[in-house]
Amino acid sequence: MESVRVDLPLFDVGRALEPLREEAVAIFDRLMRSGQFTLGAELRSFEEHFAAFCGAPHCVGVSDGTTALRLGLLALDIAPGARVITVPNTFVATVEAIDAAGALPSFVDAQTTDRCLDVAQLAGALGDDVGAVIPVHLFGRLAAMPEICALCEQAGVPVLEDAAQAHGASLGGRRAGSWGEAAAFSFYPTKNLGAAGDGGAVVCRDPGVAETLRSLRHHGSLPGEPNLHVRRGGTARLDNLQAALLDLRLTRLREENDERRRAAAAYRELLADLPLTLPAVEAASEVHVHHLFVVEVPERDRVLDALRESGIAAAVHYPTPIHLQPAWRHLGYARGDFPVAEQLADHCLSLPCFPGITEDEQVRVAGALTEALR
Ligand SMILES: *Cc1c(COP(=O)(O)O)cnc(C)c1O
Repeated sequence: MESVRVDLPLFDVGRALEPLREEAVAIFDRLMRSGQFTLGAELRSFEEHFAAFCGAPHCVGVSDGTTALRLGLLALDIAPGARVITVPNTFVATVEAIDAAGALPSFVDAQTTDRCLDVAQLAGALGDDVGAVIPVHLFGRLAAMPEICALCEQAGVPVLEDAAQAHGASLGGRRAGSWGEAAAFSFYPTKNLGAAGDGGAVVCRDPGVAETLRSLRHHGSLPGEPNLHVRRGGTARLDNLQAALLDLRLTRLREENDERRRAAAAYRELLADLPLTLPAVEAASEVHVHHLFVVEVPERDRVLDALRESGIAAAVHYPTPIHLQPAWRHLGYARGDFPVAEQLADHCLSLPCFPGITEDEQVRVAGALTEALR
C-alpha cells in the first residue's frame, strides 16, 4: 500500500497557538534572562488563575497529569491496598496512577449515554474497602457528578476527578475540578489547555490537602524549610516556563472551547444522515468541551483506514479497554466483564476537532466518511 500524506491532523496545536505566538516567545525570552525556572511567581500566578477558573479554592501545579492523579490519591490519604474505582474505558494513566499510589484499580463499566462511569454500577460497587472513586470526564464531557458525588458522600468515600480531558467543562454552571475533594488535570500539549511539553495540576478544596501536595511535589519539604523532609516526596514540580505559557493560554481557553463546540455542532449537521452513532447530545445545563469528537461506526478499522487513505488523521480512543491490556491482566478481569467499554473500544472513531478547524476541512471529513460508509 502506498503511504498517503496525512494533511488534516487530528489536533493542530500549532494553529491554536498562532494567535499567542509572539507573547509566548516573549515569555521564553524573559525566563531565559531571569534564570528562575522553578517554584516562582509564574507558577503561583497560574495556580491562582487556574483555581479560580475551575471554581476550586486551591491549585497545585505538578509535572504531568499522571502525577497529578497519583499525588492526588496520596494527598487524600488512601489506605495502602484500598480499592480505587474507575472505568476501563480511559487512558491507561488513570490506572497507572492508582497502582503507583499503592492502591488497587477496580472497574465499573461506563454508561452508554455519556460514556462515563455508570452510576447504578457504582452504587453496587461501593463498600468498606473502597478508598476513592475516580470518575473520568471522558472526551470533554463531565461524568454524572451530582449522582456520583451524592453516592460517594453517603459512603464516606472521596472523589478524585480525572479532568485531564475536561478543562472548562461544566454542569449546572459548576466546572470540572469543583466537584470532587480533588481533581487532576493534564496539560499535555494536545489537551484543551496544553503546555509546550508536559504539565499537570491538582485542584482541591481543603487547604491541608493543598499543603500536602506542595510538599509531595518538592521532596516532602515544607515552605521555607528546604532541608526538612516531613514526608516521602519526590520531584514533581510544574516549571515556571510551562506555568507562564499556561497562564497565557488560559486567557483563550473559553474561546477555544467555544470553537470546539462550534466544530462539534457542525459535525452533528454534516453527519446527521450517515449510518453512525453521534455522541449523545448533552443537557442544556451542560458545557461539553469536546476534547475529542468521537462517533461510533460499523467496521471501524476499515473506515479508519479509508479516512487515512484520504489524508485525514482519524484515530481511536481507545482500541483496547484497560481490563484487556497485557500489563493489567493480573487484575483478573476478562472479555465480557464490561460490555459498554468493550463495545466502545470496537466501534469508536475520533474525528479531527480542534480550535481553528475550518468548515471546508469538516466538509472534507464528512465526505470521506460518507464514501467509506456507502
Ligand atoms: C492525558 C490523560 C491523562 C494523563 O496525563 P499526562 O499528562 O499525559 O500524564 C490521564 N487521564 C486521562 C483521561 C488523560 O486523557
